[in-house]
Amino acid sequence: TVRTRFAPSPTGFLHVGGARTALFSWAYARHFGGKFILRIEDTDLERSTPEAVQAILDGMQWLGLHHDEGPFYQMQRMDRYREVISQLLASGHAYYCYCTPEEVEAMRERLRAAGEKPRYDGTWRPEPGKTLPSIPEGRKPVVRFKNPLDGDITWNDLVKGPITISNRELDDLIIARTDGTPTYNFCVAVDDWDMRITHVIRGDDHVNNTPRQINILNALGASLPQYGHLPMILGSDGEKLSKRHGAVSVMEYPAQGYLPEAMLNYLARLGWSHGDDEIFSMEQFCSWFDLDHLSKSAAQFNHEKLAWLNNHYIKLADNARLAALVRPVMEREGAQFEGAPVLEAAIALMKERVNTLNELADAAMLFFRQPKPDAELLKQHLTDAVKPALLQYMEQCKSVEWDRQSLAALLKETLAAHKLKMPQLAMPLRLMLTGQLQTPSIDAVVELFGRDTVLARLKNFLQ
Ligand code: GLU
Repeated sequence: TVRTRFAPSPTGFLHVGGARTALFSWAYARHFGGKFILRIEDTDLERSTPEAVQAILDGMQWLGLHHDEGPFYQMQRMDRYREVISQLLASGHAYYCYCTPEEVEAMRERLRAAGEKPRYDGTWRPEPGKTLPSIPEGRKPVVRFKNPLDGDITWNDLVKGPITISNRELDDLIIARTDGTPTYNFCVAVDDWDMRITHVIRGDDHVNNTPRQINILNALGASLPQYGHLPMILGSDGEKLSKRHGAVSVMEYPAQGYLPEAMLNYLARLGWSHGDDEIFSMEQFCSWFDLDHLSKSAAQFNHEKLAWLNNHYIKLADNARLAALVRPVMEREGAQFEGAPVLEAAIALMKERVNTLNELADAAMLFFRQPKPDAELLKQHLTDAVKPALLQYMEQCKSVEWDRQSLAALLKETLAAHKLKMPQLAMPLRLMLTGQLQTPSIDAVVELFGRDTVLARLKNFLQ
């Protein structure tokens, strides 16, 4: 069965690029009815933080990218790495090296001066018939991996096609430091082996690590996973995606009022396509997703398109769900829900025209605060010429049937009786009821406020 993993390093927030990698790994497992594994690569003690781990878990949770196994933490697997290091030492695939960093630097310098590629020169590498130097007193060794000297490493990258790297390009990698702690590429190889990963899908910044990891896996007698390296995500200007281009942390998106389904749909199209389909559910995505339709070139992050998708999913979303999401935002803005229209109804009226939940909250506020029309605007629109008509409208409001149709008819009759045009009544009504000139259709607004509020607010300005 297919087993994929997402293996973030918890050194910051969950980046949208990381989320896209996670999404593709997750969808690949789902497509084949396999397993998706979450692994936290927290061995960089200086840069890893518990907050960053939490940010990753929160981001995955928000997106609904649930893992089947894990999260596994590399820091909790130290004993296992030590065990495998001993195995490699015993089988002759690894050896102790007593060179100091200064000595290694000096030998690299020598090779560089001789016009060769700087590398570890194999001083401590055991070979048949070779006598090793004597061990310097009191010096702690590192453990180096005995990389094959000749031949090539070739893998058929699931995204990029065949890639070949000569072993001559690769050093005898340090797999354990002088204090015995294992190093990055080694841990990844052991983990992918132990977790029986079949498909490693990750960013193409890891292409150079792949041959090293393959050599280690070969030495362990492990069967190799397949590797697919995703091109990176660029900003709209073609530069590497960064804060300059807008939010790059996944969790900034819920804060800005994005729905997870919009984000997922957006990320799915970032470097993958299914004909002309732009809008699809995760169910569809998982059934369609394969690695054949991945783009080989970098994808550009486009905030307008994400906003467009968010608008689409807001329109589609259940009003009760939207209400639960915008309510806290509106409370912070001082919304008064008592004696006001039902929030769901206000949302139904406003959700067509917004790109984010924060915009929705702002738009819906007009039903949940006291109107404070600008005095100048009021003077301009509430003229003596229209006042009699508004008074008549108000009077009729006391008894009119309170539904959209009757209210629309009443407004039309009033306009006709006073020979006025729609804006001449609609504008002052908007100002008196909401304090602003831009609202949905005035009949919808009047209906939603309800008779008591409408009469109270009009009276306030007309008498
Ligand atoms: N921990 C690595 C990163 O966050 C990913 C390693 C991998 O996927 O093999 O970039």
